[in-house]
Amino acid sequence: MICPKCKADTRVKDSRPHADDPTVIRRRRQCDGCGHRFETQEGTVDIVGTRAAKRARAIRFRSRLGTEKYREMKVGWRLRKAAAAEAAETGQPVAEILARWNGVAAPSRPASPHP
Ligand SMILES: [Zn+2]
Repeated sequence: MICPKCKADTRVKDSRPHADDPTVIRRRRQCDGCGHRFETQEGTVDIVGTRAAKRARAIRFRSRLGTEKYREMKVGWRLRKAAAAEAAETGQPVAEILARWNGVAAPSRPASPHP
């Protein structure tokens, strides 16, 4: 591991399990370059559990919203994505493109403080 202060290599001075969680290892380190002392913790990351929790949150969000409202939101996401693509090609602001597609006037820009 490199030193957070000077980016030189560091040495482990002490290594022991965390007092509250024995699956986590705490390490005291010292920098070879500047002598800075700091502590690191090493543990496992539950990728599968994290993804499952994210999916569960998305399902709860959709069920709260209702199918029809979620469909409307998806249409909005697709429209904004298409507008952003057109904005990248034409150089026009996304808000103006969306306003043109929706058949309404583009939102007026705030007056410039430097005329
Ligand atoms: Zn250092």
